[in-house]
Amino acid sequence: MDGTMMDYPLTLPSILERAGKLFGKVEIVSRLPDKSLHRCTYADVHRRSRQLAAALQQAGLKRGERVATMMWNSYVHLEAYFGVPVSGGVLHTLNFRLHADDIAYIANHAEDRFIIVDDVLLPLFEQVRDRLEIERVFVAALSGKPVPEGYENYETFLEGAPDNFAYPDLDENEACGMCYTSGTTGRSKGVVYSHRAMVLHSLAECMTDCAALSQKDTVMPVVPMFHANAWGLPYATALVGAKTIMPGPHLDADSLLDLCEREQVTLAAGVPTIWFGILNALDENPGARKLHPKLRTLVGGSAAPEAMIRGFDKHGVHTIQAWGMTEMTPLGTVSTLKGYLEALPEDEQYALRAKQGLPVPFVEARVVDEKGEAPWDGETMGELQVRGPWVAASYHNAEAGAEDKWTDDGWFGTGDVVTIDAEGYVKITDRTKDLIKSGGEWISSVDLENALMGHPGVKEAAVIAVAHPKWQERPLAVVVAKEGAEVTPEALADHLAATFAKWWVPEAPAGYVFIEEIPRTSAGKFLKSALRERFSDFQWPE
Ligand code: ADP
Repeated sequence: MDGTMMDYPLTLPSILERAGKLFGKVEIVSRLPDKSLHRCTYADVHRRSRQLAAALQQAGLKRGERVATMMWNSYVHLEAYFGVPVSGGVLHTLNFRLHADDIAYIANHAEDRFIIVDDVLLPLFEQVRDRLEIERVFVAALSGKPVPEGYENYETFLEGAPDNFAYPDLDENEACGMCYTSGTTGRSKGVVYSHRAMVLHSLAECMTDCAALSQKDTVMPVVPMFHANAWGLPYATALVGAKTIMPGPHLDADSLLDLCEREQVTLAAGVPTIWFGILNALDENPGARKLHPKLRTLVGGSAAPEAMIRGFDKHGVHTIQAWGMTEMTPLGTVSTLKGYLEALPEDEQYALRAKQGLPVPFVEARVVDEKGEAPWDGETMGELQVRGPWVAASYHNAEAGAEDKWTDDGWFGTGDVVTIDAEGYVKITDRTKDLIKSGGEWISSVDLENALMGHPGVKEAAVIAVAHPKWQERPLAVVVAKEGAEVTPEALADHLAATFAKWWVPEAPAGYVFIEEIPRTSAGKFLKSALRERFSDFQWPE
């Protein structure tokens, strides 16, 4: 049929143009390595991103070629988020917290051609430089020191750009970015994002029942810009024209709270381990910080325990849990309550908010167990499978024989074990590799962890499976006690017994070990594979 709508491409230049034209006065505030604050505006981001795009084209960057970054969150990283894709290139945000061997593998696997590096990260970069096939290295001197010899200055590169930049004619299905999974359960895999996915994802993220982004917000992505596309926040925030706060390398609770207070942040996003520290700081000095009365947090990457959600409510900070994956740009579900569920008793509301939430529009979800598609009854566990316009269709140059996560009928298998309830709320019970199989039945490590972290004496807890001569596996609770708190295995077992079937509860005292700190992944998640290794010789008493 003739006469429908224009064929208008969904590409990132639209977001950059909008931010520059409509929100030119709005600020981007970045904390620099020396802790001072750098201030610029969307007008600057617009101008400098286009300059970067022009400079890259002049340097010979071809369509689809990769430009890597090795950077903390800052205005320069934001320029790269726009400048690289609007030049026709692909932004590859490297996770510099990985081991040097992994960084080298990833940068070479992605065939990065150029790289932009924060000068404070040069010592890390030097460890891999010789192993990379990168043509040019641009150094952003955010520390204020001169750029060391042997490197090109990012500012000089920008200054040399021609001033007649015009956007290339981009197809919405072209690649604009790429990101490797953080490697919690195996070797990192590369995901390539399209302009279209990024634009649609930004629109969905801004919706009121998602992160509810508005121009009136002040947004602080604590999540590193290399982790899962910074959860889409740089693009979503620019789309609505909200003020942005970039915390730079200073991610301790005090520095973050200081920024929240100073700049009156209304939305801050990061993994639960960041929020544990912040909640502790607030608990120690309640009322000391004059935070924005509507401060909310977007928490994901691993489960936000109910105790944490309740704890923040006491300080007037509202937690929104979201679930996602690098493979999903990354937003998949968001846990906001439907209006009529707000009439439920308080405990039930909290239990719902501690679930991972409802699929966002255009993300379809299903649970699949060995019998096939499982009912949404809140009880039947199976693998969560998804499909949608911002779900990856494959990995970048996957090695032959690599685990194939796509089903024949076009769904992506997330590797997360979930239930979905009749209202549609998804609840992650585990990652497949973390499930505990005891006496032929599954035990959810996530549920046990969340309950343990609800005990007043527990700071952090992770639960892992340990081989057992009789039961095949039994849960071992690895616990970090709060400073000064006296917690015993028996007390923890009693605490768990109040909620769980007896066979779920780790046996006291053998099933509880106390350690100083739970090892973390490069993205700040609990690294359970390291715990499994550490306790691989663990012997249950006869
Ligand atoms: P990696 O797989 O290396 O950890 P990602 O950062 O992409 O890389 O992690 C995605 C995974 O993180 C999901 O498959 C899920 O297991 C976990 N995850 C993300 N958000 C949540 C959440 N809110 N609750 C529980 N698990 C989550």
